[in-house]
Amino acid sequence: MISVEEALARLLAPLAALPVEQVSVSDAVGRVLAEDVAARRTQPPFAVSAMDGYAVRAADVEHVPVNLRIIAEIPAGAGFSGVLDKGEAARIFTGAPLPEGADTIVIQEDTERDGDTVRVVEGATLGTYVRRAGLDFAEGDVLLHQGTRLSPRHIGLAAAMNRPWLFVHRRPVVGILSTGDEVVMPGEPIGPHQIVSSNALALAAFVTACGGVPVSLGNAPDDADALRTFAAGARGVDLLVSTGGVSVGEHDLVRGVLSEDGLAIDFWEIAMRPGKPLMSGSYRGTPMLGLPGNPVSTLVCSLLFLKPAMERLAGLPDKAEPQQMARLGRDLRQNDRRQDYLRSTLTRGPDGVLGATPFPVQDSSMMRPLASSDCLVIRPPHAPAAPVGTMVPIVTFPGGAWPL
Ligand code: AMP
Ligand code: MG
Repeated sequence: MISVEEALARLLAPLAALPVEQVSVSDAVGRVLAEDVAARRTQPPFAVSAMDGYAVRAADVEHVPVNLRIIAEIPAGAGFSGVLDKGEAARIFTGAPLPEGADTIVIQEDTERDGDTVRVVEGATLGTYVRRAGLDFAEGDVLLHQGTRLSPRHIGLAAAMNRPWLFVHRRPVVGILSTGDEVVMPGEPIGPHQIVSSNALALAAFVTACGGVPVSLGNAPDDADALRTFAAGARGVDLLVSTGGVSVGEHDLVRGVLSEDGLAIDFWEIAMRPGKPLMSGSYRGTPMLGLPGNPVSTLVCSLLFLKPAMERLAGLPDKAEPQQMARLGRDLRQNDRRQDYLRSTLTRGPDGVLGATPFPVQDSSMMRPLASSDCLVIRPPHAPAAPVGTMVPIVTFPGGAWPL
């Protein structure tokens, strides 16, 4: 058995960012930029008014009230070719270009209009409510960087930079192969000794949530020929993920059968719970992750291994996240040699500190507690007994592929 850390390092070592492709900005959310991006236009391109009101010369409104002559009306999208002189004002609207000669905006609320005259009743200092040209950014400024996962905010910025398309890394295509004579897809005819398969659909959802493209390779029965036939579907995927059949029983065929069919195993068995029989290797040149069959093991291992693997393929740079901690809400016994990931609920205490309470039963077949948990409490190998109140490390479930 190897440690979780070593397993992750070995899994990631051979993986590299997928090739680059060009996509419309409208299709780029969640994708990872493959290049630095420079603005193709200055924003704002000219000085504009930030309010509805009057463009004036600051010197003219130093002493108020004062009457100014209105010489133009400038809505957004229009311009004014004249020059504002002493004693003059231009009616102006939010986003409209400032006329030459004007340097300040007096808001509508601080004026009284009388035909072609505006009476300014509240003064404004030089530059008030003027957005200068280039306030946000200038043409040529590099504002988006290679390795950034594009959120809706980045999409807005890219669009403002006048970029209708971007170069991003291809999304990882993940082949999902479930195994087992006993499992049947939800809704399908089911025998008296069979169970409903949750892994295949949960994994497909997980891959999608991580920004990848799941491809279902079907459910292979526990039969050598069938397993080889189903595994042949892995041709062309970026990563092959199997579930079940990777443990030590006579019906666990994945390692044995596929090893004679082009699978090179790098490691098998990790000192963790749930998920001990996880396998990693390459099947006919395609990276392969053999996840255990128990549904909780499948998803916990996906969070710990599949997600980072997909991030590497998607072009995200490695970054060390700060370790989150929470206060334990239940006494825990001393741990054995496997690193434990306990399904737990999370609440915030009156002092603002997060509290994590593990479910009393931690069986790796139980989906209900996994689905109702907010985090996993990490118990390192041989961790001493921990009473209520001990601060413990946790992993939370990510919010989705492209949080704002
Ligand atoms: P295995 O590793 O194949 O021995 O599977 C371990 C446990 O996980 C067994 O109880 C299986 O019935 C169960 N299991 C395997 N595949 C699935 C699946 N796709 N959905 C739900 N449970 C599964
Ligand atoms: Mg099985």
